[in-house]
Amino acid sequence: MVTFPPATRTSLSGWGNYPREECELYRPATPSEFEQIVLHSPHTNIITRGRGRSYGDAALNRDRGVVLSDPMNRILSFDTENGILNCECGVSFAEILNFALPKGFVLPITPGTKHISVGGAIAADVHGKNHHRDGTISSQLLDFRLLTANGSTLLCSREENPDLFWATLGGMGLTGAILDARLQLRPADSAYVDTSTQPCVNLDQAFELMEAGDRDYEYAVAWIDCLAQGRSLGRSVLLRANPAELQNLPPKVRASPFSIPKHLGLGVPFQMPSMLLNPLSMRLFNSAFYFAHRTRRNIVDWQRYFYPLDSIAHWNRIYGRRGVLQYQLVLPSATARQGLIEILEHISASGRASFLAVLKTTGPANASPLSFPIEGMSLALDFPNTGPDLLEMLSDLDQMVLRHGGRVYLAKDSCLDAADFMAMYPRLEEFRAIKARHDPENRFSSSLGRRLRIVEAS
Ligand SMILES: Cc1cc2nc3c(=O)[nH]c(=O)nc-3n(C[C@H](O)[C@H](O)[C@H](O)COP(=O)(O)OP(=O)(O)OC[C@H]3O[C@@H](n4cnc5c(N)ncnc54)[C@H](O)[C@@H]3O)c2cc1C
Repeated sequence: MVTFPPATRTSLSGWGNYPREECELYRPATPSEFEQIVLHSPHTNIITRGRGRSYGDAALNRDRGVVLSDPMNRILSFDTENGILNCECGVSFAEILNFALPKGFVLPITPGTKHISVGGAIAADVHGKNHHRDGTISSQLLDFRLLTANGSTLLCSREENPDLFWATLGGMGLTGAILDARLQLRPADSAYVDTSTQPCVNLDQAFELMEAGDRDYEYAVAWIDCLAQGRSLGRSVLLRANPAELQNLPPKVRASPFSIPKHLGLGVPFQMPSMLLNPLSMRLFNSAFYFAHRTRRNIVDWQRYFYPLDSIAHWNRIYGRRGVLQYQLVLPSATARQGLIEILEHISASGRASFLAVLKTTGPANASPLSFPIEGMSLALDFPNTGPDLLEMLSDLDQMVLRHGGRVYLAKDSCLDAADFMAMYPRLEEFRAIKARHDPENRFSSSLGRRLRIVEAS
């Protein structure tokens, strides 16, 4: 007999707190309940939710079912010889690192937060600061088991069910529920990286140094001041790194190279008044950040380099009740320079600042029809939600991105329209055909899926 606790009507959002929607939320207590809910909940359709770190509506399902993957939280096995980790979909990157770092292994691909689930990472085909060298999480993913709409559990890899393997990577939960996965971890000498910091006076200089030097670094990003104008347009700070060599670690660290100092557990206790983030405070912050950085090298731990924001719990509350809209775009190499100049000029002229703006070189695309990265440059921006005027500006940015042959990232998106999405992701029909074969009744659907018409409304 099928039994599971009923759903509760809950107001949910992604990490950006926008949009916020009423959903029917299931909190299974066991893996078996998780599977039963996915297959048999009475709602027309369902979407799986990991740690809710996507910014927009990818893990929302207005008036329909949302199931948490929390009970899928076991590390199933670890092969210390080969670094192969098998774990359930709800295990977080933080848990993997806590488990694997002391054994001398790291996650080869990690986004800017470790508070994401393995299921969410695969569904968004996440990338890190090393996309230019190592690609997305697909490159460390050996296989996963997918619970599909007809109740079968399929092993998906490059050899078995390759269509579902690639469609699920970047498929935002719309092909089925990932149950567990095998990831290839990478051996490391320590939990430290050797960083190089270099300010650039404008975008031209940043481009020159990134083109010439990013390949010499395993990890490479640039923080960019999007309020700077004129000759300083695009002034930035390159923050690049390689794994630290043992002999370069300070003696105290060398004695225990996998222990990381505890960082202060700061937190934002409540939603801050959104007026604190105004153009003036952002201009001050951006200038201060730029002038605080000098050219230098430094050894820092994983936490500080990869997850600086994770040190501040609930940092998204600084944006207040109305939340924040993340906007991440990628432009192909051929148009990246010109496109970014136009985009930065547009943002800067609007007087609207992004608190955090990050520029990255991206490597070649993979075989997934809905994966985000293509070879070129990616820019991620955070805008406090100010209402319709912001949505209008983001729609202008969509047109610029399209004109330059680029696309925006679904894991961060909350306002793209279906026509622009289709123009940005020309392999959508391939994805739809795979979904139709495995989920003809659209058991798996989400607010994002319907907004972008990846899935028909039902
Ligand atoms: C501070 C911050 C920094 C970030 N930096 C980066 C970055 O550098 N690079 C990058 O690529 N991303 C980045 N992200 C985005 C984040 O990595 C992705 O949104 C990721 O999907 C979040 O995982 P989650 O477990 O929170 O998933 P959720 O937000 O809960 O869900 C995201 C998607 O995954 C699907 N999903 C979740 N679990 C399953 C499952 N078991 N089976 C099938 N589908 C599932 C959901 O349906 C949804 O479509 C960042 C996010 C934050 C908040």
